[in-house]
Amino acid sequence: MKIFVTGGAGYIGSICVEQMLNQGHEVTVFDNLTEGHRKAVDPRTKFVFGDLQKPEQIAAALREAAPEAVMHFAANALVGESMTNPSKYFRNNVYGGINLLDGMVAAGVKKFVFSSTCATFGPPERNPIDETLPQRPINPYGESKLLFEKILRWYDQIHGLKFVALRYFNAAGASENYGEDHRTETHIIPNVLKVALGQKDHVDIFGNDYETPDGTCIRDYIHIIDLAQAHILALGRTESALYNLGTGGGTSVREIIAACEKVTGIKIPVKETPRRPGDPPLLIAASEKVKRELGWNPQYQSIDKIIESAWAWHKKHPTGYGD
Ligand code: UDP
Repeated sequence: MKIFVTGGAGYIGSICVEQMLNQGHEVTVFDNLTEGHRKAVDPRTKFVFGDLQKPEQIAAALREAAPEAVMHFAANALVGESMTNPSKYFRNNVYGGINLLDGMVAAGVKKFVFSSTCATFGPPERNPIDETLPQRPINPYGESKLLFEKILRWYDQIHGLKFVALRYFNAAGASENYGEDHRTETHIIPNVLKVALGQKDHVDIFGNDYETPDGTCIRDYIHIIDLAQAHILALGRTESALYNLGTGGGTSVREIIAACEKVTGIKIPVKETPRRPGDPPLLIAASEKVKRELGWNPQYQSIDKIIESAWAWHKKHPTGYGD
């Protein structure tokens, strides 16, 4: 298929693009490179430097590419930043997304795959989190993604635009060529690996008094290649749907650090610090619906395998993409 990808220079987008190209799809990447990196864009794509805040730029790029489907990764995704600068999140994640949808309607593109998030649920009343639970986000990031899920329902009803929203849990790991390089790194695994690389002297454990077996937060880490596979499967769906996307397993912060020590063979010094505001103790996906309806079958269920792939990439690219 001909696929148009926004945010294809970012961590998740770049690896989804690579996997689609490997499976024979033709890809155009549209990115403004504020978060992404030009070197993260696979050379087999056509790259368009553009901004979703400019309706005419995105409309022209879609007209020109004439894709069969759009995958929309371009967004801001830091919970903490969204709590201090909500405007940025609503402008980029909602207004930017509407410009993209309007460009699709004008160009007659009817298929859409959307990067949503488990942050649309807020603290869940039970785990694992299935698609029937109420969505009550507790930060502007989660709210912006939930608003966009709602907007998509109306574009389906009114314009016949079919969408699949994938609510990611914790994306992690790397492919051989592409990995995680955020300008501001807040995520646990790359931060632990920075210590192993000698770029940081310790990692903080945010909170050791949660109601979990070892007192630290538990998350559902999903390998980036499994996540990419779900996007490719979503292209085959003809009706709109929303899926929670995680493996159904959980790993605590202490277990992540122990697994990083095992994989790297390097002792990781830690500092136990107070809780990070807004972190729920436990977030685990119910993955039955996406397995049943899309035939998704994750290959990397072990946290060691996920960390091994991340470590291989970080060792090869100690300064990330170097920009
Ligand atoms: N975390 C931590 N130290 C860090 C970064 C993260 O203890 O340097 C914890 C964080 O509080 C959360 C878990 O690791 O409980 C996963 O955080 P991350 O930012 O990787 O993903 P999130 O679940 O927030 O999307």
